[in-house]
Amino acid sequence: MWLRYIFHNLAGIPIINPQYIQAFLLNQWLYHFGSKKMNVSNKSAIIFAPHQDDETFGCGGLIALKTQLKVPVAIVFMTDGQRSHLHTPWIKPPDNLIETRRQEAITALEILGVRQSAIHFLNLVDGTLNILTKEQNQNIIKRLVDFLQIYQPEEVYVPHQKDNHTDHESTYKLVKFAIEQSKMQIKLLQYPIWMFWESPLFIKIKPRDLTNAYRLEIQSVMERKKQAISAYKSQSSILPASFVKGFMKKSYEIFFLDSWSK
Ligand SMILES: [Zn+2]
Repeated sequence: MWLRYIFHNLAGIPIINPQYIQAFLLNQWLYHFGSKKMNVSNKSAIIFAPHQDDETFGCGGLIALKTQLKVPVAIVFMTDGQRSHLHTPWIKPPDNLIETRRQEAITALEILGVRQSAIHFLNLVDGTLNILTKEQNQNIIKRLVDFLQIYQPEEVYVPHQKDNHTDHESTYKLVKFAIEQSKMQIKLLQYPIWMFWESPLFIKIKPRDLTNAYRLEIQSVMERKKQAISAYKSQSSILPASFVKGFMKKSYEIFFLDSWSK
């Protein structure tokens, strides 16, 4: 793990970082050939994020564009983010990491136009969403159904079902179960965070996973997305530099329409 971190960060120069190259090429292919244009809609939305920063990396532009149109957007954070520094033990986390990340999220989302009353923290333990008991799963799904019923969103955004992170993939499953249970008609869109980054293509990601891709142009709100990413100060030293840079530079966001919700 240490070696991987050092490699990622010494390889901040994109040209020698294979993960960066893979993510860059896939994004370019999706942008130019593999996606349809998506316009920001006036449909209300909930964004479910496993950790404090996923919503900004994956959907920051979308959130800013929607709030500009005064479209209701709510954010639900699944975990408390307490394990973000686990793989970089030589970097000391802030004294109260959970509270720090919570405040960073509120600041980032304020920049993106989301009021604090629409931000919710479920505070599940970071890194445990795939090892919950059946009862815990059912309780969480029930809480998610409550959010759906309160906000009545027309669109829901979740991390991609193959996002190469257990909390991210579990968030997808939990939210999908909740939508099924709610029996509501909701458009489900998946956003990639680690999907193109971690595993070599095409071991886990198959060509069929890249269908139904949509691209949203976010040039007009890019500056705000960059500021929101920068608000996550506790994460800037532990995330691979070129990973963050990739999100900062992209003038579009990619979403995959869930075939199940069409
Ligand atoms: Zn995450």
